[in-house]
Amino acid sequence: MTSYGLTDDVRAVRKRVKTFINSEVIPAEPLLMRENEEAEHSLEELKQSAKRQGLWALGHPEEIGGGGLPFMTFVYLNEIIGRSYWGQNAVGSLTMQDSLMLHRYGTAEQKERWLKPLVAGEILPSVGLTEPEVAGSDPTLMQSTATLDGDVWVINAHKWFTTGANKAAFTTIFCQTEPEAQRHAKFSAIIVPTDTPGYEIVRVIPTMGHTGGNHCELRLREVRVPRGFLLGKRGEGFVIAQKRLGPGRIFHCMRWLGQAQRAFELMCERAKTRFAHGSLLAEKGEIQAYIAESAAEIQAARLMTLDAARAMDEGDEARVEIALIKFWGARMLHNVVDRAIQVHGGLGLTSDTPLEFMYREARYARIYDGPDEVHRMTVARRLLKDPVGGTPWA
Ligand SMILES: Cc1cc2nc3c(=O)[nH]c(=O)nc-3n(C[C@H](O)[C@H](O)[C@H](O)COP(=O)(O)OP(=O)(O)OC[C@H]3O[C@@H](n4cnc5c(N)ncnc54)[C@H](O)[C@@H]3O)c2cc1C
Repeated sequence: MTSYGLTDDVRAVRKRVKTFINSEVIPAEPLLMRENEEAEHSLEELKQSAKRQGLWALGHPEEIGGGGLPFMTFVYLNEIIGRSYWGQNAVGSLTMQDSLMLHRYGTAEQKERWLKPLVAGEILPSVGLTEPEVAGSDPTLMQSTATLDGDVWVINAHKWFTTGANKAAFTTIFCQTEPEAQRHAKFSAIIVPTDTPGYEIVRVIPTMGHTGGNHCELRLREVRVPRGFLLGKRGEGFVIAQKRLGPGRIFHCMRWLGQAQRAFELMCERAKTRFAHGSLLAEKGEIQAYIAESAAEIQAARLMTLDAARAMDEGDEARVEIALIKFWGARMLHNVVDRAIQVHGGLGLTSDTPLEFMYREARYARIYDGPDEVHRMTVARRLLKDPVGGTPWA
């Protein structure tokens, strides 16, 4: 065992993934960024290559067709996968949160129909929680409904920011099925195939920096699906959504570290070669401060994320740790990419480097999976009750 649990085995698998990301995924980025048919084709080739090299779905449990890597090993791997925005798609981990959700809560029939092809990369999932009419930061406000008509769920829903619905085989719709229950027990999760009559993609919402985009607005009008498409139990929707998000936030933060580390390396390279006002940028105090601040923020976020992962791996829900890394990690990413752009000057704003794309994605990170303020509120509320928390440092 070496430092931070990075054993030789973990290093070896990280090295293999890094070679794939650096030599195949990153060179394809200019093409992938176009979000057109050519980009789709290129992504498909990358997926096939990852499969041939035994790098596909490494973090999924073996019993559902994955590589069966232990949780902590896969956590470490995510920093490498995250070096490219397309990394997780290329190595089959993009849909991991949904696969794990189906693995945990799905019936045998649901697993056969959706989980197997999901892990194999043959279909894509999507998840509909957020609604335009109510604050997504407080999912207890969701208004979409489903009622039972004999053995059929009848769903009426208006969702938006349903990422990937335009290419997905199904959307897991979170909606009220138990209106009389207490606020967290009102909701259920129901799997709705996207070709069900009444399921309409109103539009793919144009968002910052995406030409094609994949964040969809949906309308479900009197959509009817069999009773057996309920995921988990009635009223369990809130719990399912929380369980889905927990490990997902750790993987997000590790991938953000991959992005930040890459931006940092680009910043250092540029500083060492750009000459102005009598010296290289690398020799100027203010630029050195950018580099030192960034190194500190990256390492702090990395250790915080690994600590949250360790707590979760030991069976803790790690609510405080995960909320901390969600807003801290997103801020770190935003700051580091911002400084890297600054050091590149005008070049940093062009698409000749990946920085401007990273910057836009960093902005998204401060909102999806809960805005910064909500995570700070979670942390503060819990620590106000018990300022030391359950940390081993107590
Ligand atoms: C890239 C991206 C992908 C997404 N993918 C999905 C998806 O696949 N499925 C899905 O269902 N949703 C998805 N979302 C939606 C996302 O989860 C919501 O945008 C998020 O939860 C915030 O909800 P909202 O947009 O309704 O903002 P609101 O809830 O309206 O919040 C607006 C602002 O209010 C402030 N605020 C809110 N609560 C508090 C508080 N307690 N204290 C202080 N200030 C507060 C914050 O500044 C917040 O940004 C995605 C969003 C993005 C950006």
